[in-house]
Amino acid sequence: SKLTNDDVRSLANDLGVKFIRLQFTDIFGVLKNVSITVEQLEKALAGELMFDGSSIDGFVRIEESDMYLRPDPSTFVIFPWKPRDGAVARLICDIYNPDGTPFEGDPRFVLRRSLQEAESMGYSTMNVGPEAEFFLFHVDTEGRPTTVTHDRAGYFDLTPVDLGENARRDMVLALESMGFEIEASHHEVAPGQHEIDFKYSDALDIADKIVTFRFVVRTIAQRHGLHATFMPKPIFGIAGSGMHLNQSLMKDGKNIFFDPNLPNQMSEDSMYYIGGLLKYARAIAAITNPNVNSYKRLVSGYEAPVYIAWSSRNRSPLIRVPAKRGLSTRIELRSPDPSCNPYLALAVCLRAGLDGIKNKTMPPPACDRNIYDMTDAERSELGIGNLPENLYAALLELQRSELMQDALGKHVCQRFIDAKLIEWDRYRIQVHPWEIEEYLTKF
Ligand code: GLU
Ligand code: MG
Ligand code: MG
Repeated sequence: SKLTNDDVRSLANDLGVKFIRLQFTDIFGVLKNVSITVEQLEKALAGELMFDGSSIDGFVRIEESDMYLRPDPSTFVIFPWKPRDGAVARLICDIYNPDGTPFEGDPRFVLRRSLQEAESMGYSTMNVGPEAEFFLFHVDTEGRPTTVTHDRAGYFDLTPVDLGENARRDMVLALESMGFEIEASHHEVAPGQHEIDFKYSDALDIADKIVTFRFVVRTIAQRHGLHATFMPKPIFGIAGSGMHLNQSLMKDGKNIFFDPNLPNQMSEDSMYYIGGLLKYARAIAAITNPNVNSYKRLVSGYEAPVYIAWSSRNRSPLIRVPAKRGLSTRIELRSPDPSCNPYLALAVCLRAGLDGIKNKTMPPPACDRNIYDMTDAERSELGIGNLPENLYAALLELQRSELMQDALGKHVCQRFIDAKLIEWDRYRIQVHPWEIEEYLTKF
């Protein structure tokens, strides 16, 4: 059962907590926090602590900057790597306006609103299982991160090749003590690349867990003298890092994606959910793949999706339906990368899926061939489109999609697009090493 304010009071007391970090994210999913002492806990739990919203990316203008933090008691955990004497705990917060209404620029609120939409259709829970990949790199003599991988191991390798094993073990231990149920952790395909999988849970809990996960992994790596990065494609020519999102919907305690009476045991609604995700895939990309670098990962040859299709078998399409059925029946969206804002990513996926269900959007038949091996003509015959080729193209899709604008809300959507267009422009005017290599001596 979930912790209440009373539980937080007694836990803080019993565990000798001295400091409490009040956390939330900006619209890009970057974790922010303010530290208070336990003496301020009552005030914090009453939602009376204020901060300057104008200093947070994508929040508000100076004129309307007072924002209130309302800690969610169910998110109370102790940082296990800090001393137990004068322990440090954290609480994730919802953000409120001075008039007591929820702040529409708060990503957590955006996700809550999508979940309400699901509830109004009778779905009590969206379950999500994320698979976040990351790299561990060496730091130089001054402690600055490099792109030198800390090992040369590959998929499922063991020590002594895998120098990250110790760091990874400490990450798992820290996460477990913070309430994560770790299902698996392993070395990924690329040198220095790892994956730690934790058990699925409801969407809001998982979004909280993803931001916590990124922060814990980076903190523990640092304590091992390594730099962990969730940048999607740090090195050209080897696999990038994805964050597959396995999704399902619950109604009356049952997984509605499962139907034992149909040939592949996938319900009609699960097909429509896939239909919705495919229909909005290009606009969703702006949120699930929000950086210039994200699109360097979405290229063929590295198990990352390029084409908009689904399959129950192979891993080249955007959506895969893993073999598990019954309560574990799920749809795996393979495009998201771990640099995204998980609250917004889940909010837009859910709305696209619900839209598919509402409008009975039937996806094209499953594509069980390797899409990378098809010719352009074969793909277009099967109606298989592709994901946006760069951030700019994705932003234009987002700008054009009414449903996605509605899912994010005007406030978040506009600020997100504005900020990302500036980011794109900063990138666009750079002269890259590739250009020098290609043209300097040619012309
Ligand atoms: N690293 C791959 C990606 O970029 C995914 C590999 C996997 O299937 O786990 O999405
Ligand atoms: Mg993986
Ligand atoms: Mg996967």
